[in-house]
Amino acid sequence: MSGHLYPVALVGAGPGDPALLTLGAVEALREAEVVVYDRLVDPRIVERFTPPECERVYVGKLPDRHTMAQDEINALLVQKALEGKRVVRLKGGDPFVFGRGGEEALALRAAGVPFRVVPGVTSAVAAPAYAGVPVTHRGLASSFAVVTGHEDPAKENEAVDWRKLATAVDTIVLLMGTKTLPRVVELLIEAGRLPETPVAVVQWGTLANQRTVTGTLSDIVARAAEAGVTSPAVTVVGDVAGLREELRWFDSRPLFGKRVLVTRTREQASELARMLEEAGAAPVELPAIALEPLADADALRETFERLAAGGYALTVFTSANAVRLFFRLLREQRRDARSVVCRVAAIGPGTASALEAHGIVPDVVAETYTAEGLVEALRTEVPLQGQRVLVPRSAEGRDALVEGIRALGAAEVDDVALYRPAKPEPDVEGLRALRSGEVDIVTFASSSSVRHLVELLDGDVSPLRGMTIACIGPITAQAVRDAGLEPTIVAREHTILGLVRALEEAFAIREELHGGARREAP
Ligand code: SAH
Repeated sequence: MSGHLYPVALVGAGPGDPALLTLGAVEALREAEVVVYDRLVDPRIVERFTPPECERVYVGKLPDRHTMAQDEINALLVQKALEGKRVVRLKGGDPFVFGRGGEEALALRAAGVPFRVVPGVTSAVAAPAYAGVPVTHRGLASSFAVVTGHEDPAKENEAVDWRKLATAVDTIVLLMGTKTLPRVVELLIEAGRLPETPVAVVQWGTLANQRTVTGTLSDIVARAAEAGVTSPAVTVVGDVAGLREELRWFDSRPLFGKRVLVTRTREQASELARMLEEAGAAPVELPAIALEPLADADALRETFERLAAGGYALTVFTSANAVRLFFRLLREQRRDARSVVCRVAAIGPGTASALEAHGIVPDVVAETYTAEGLVEALRTEVPLQGQRVLVPRSAEGRDALVEGIRALGAAEVDDVALYRPAKPEPDVEGLRALRSGEVDIVTFASSSSVRHLVELLDGDVSPLRGMTIACIGPITAQAVRDAGLEPTIVAREHTILGLVRALEEAFAIREELHGGARREAP
């Protein structure tokens, strides 16, 4: 066995939103050699947080078919652990809340395999919370019970005593209960729960396709059937369900449920994707840029020597990518941040924080994040008369920057091409989603991503027509126009956060114009 104290971790993945993974879950996934996961675990979580070489085993049960029986799963966990692998058994929500985690733990124990448990955020509490329903509330509910609706309540020896339960607790949270809801509701009313009791059914809670149906014990069955609610759904019975009207927050966000195309490089996509998820949107990745490194460390030897010897008055960075590549090349020559003895300028906050990650706090950050804005900031901040300036950047960087620095009196500007934005391998799934109209909004964070997306579409931009096109700034917007399209939104602040904010604002206004299209039927 390998040197791990606890080869198997039973880990809760939370109800769906990746933001509800615990730190413990993320750490376990990052170190996993085998991940065994279920239907209710979003495969994107497995993909995003496990190392590429990790073995991923899907043992999910589909409603009509068991992919793998429970004792087979138990045996698999034991076998992988005995092979010396670090195994993560990843389950939706919390592993010990109707997750059969206890059974798996017993099987591991019987086989003498040490395990640990990383609890998760259970859907029983989180799905109601994302629908604006607190399971307890001062004055309304001081107790809640989580019960399974899976058992057929008509059965004689059923596991849940519905009659006793009905009036014993204030809030009843029902899991696995979409099929048995009619019978459960009937029993609750028979046992003395008022027919007027508010009820909320939350399907796919915490995700961009979350759907909530509200009503009372007397009409929820009809309403849920009408809305076509299916598993997975959590049903909350109790006065707290009535708070949704006032407390709903997640599915009333302007970007809620919108499918948004992310065209950044694979490595950079996650920051934008995370912000979009936070806004309630569903990111769809279709990387339209890959970076092709151009300079090698040898070619830069002289430049680095000059830099370390104080030969430059200023180094200018215009992207986080340039910062990362620059420092990678420095390190290949066994150099580090100490070589950068001159002043340093960054085009915007993203570039600045990439620099700070390397221990360099830039002297100048432009106020408007364009080449012109950067030159303007340099004009007052750094005297450049007769000086030499280093600009390590993309081969497709704009001339305006170098010309502007020259105009400030610099004697020499070394414009070093570190990389070229290139067309990436086409992402089949992303392209399919775009072509089949499954995307509502397209985002562009650079002009090269516009050009390369057009190339990925073989020059046919028709799938983009009529879609909301959001650009990080004016240069990117111009590239959209050059492609024969019209940008719908141009961010005022030319950062990723600024882009998401601009989208939120635009959709909030549309919502107002269309008069509360989001309101539920009363
Ligand atoms: N261990 C899980 C529950 C597993 S039982 C947990 O702690 O959440 C499976 C049931 O959980 C589903 O039938 C459904 O009732 C509920 N469920 C899981 N994820 C859900 C989600 N995102 N939205 C609504 N219900 C969910």
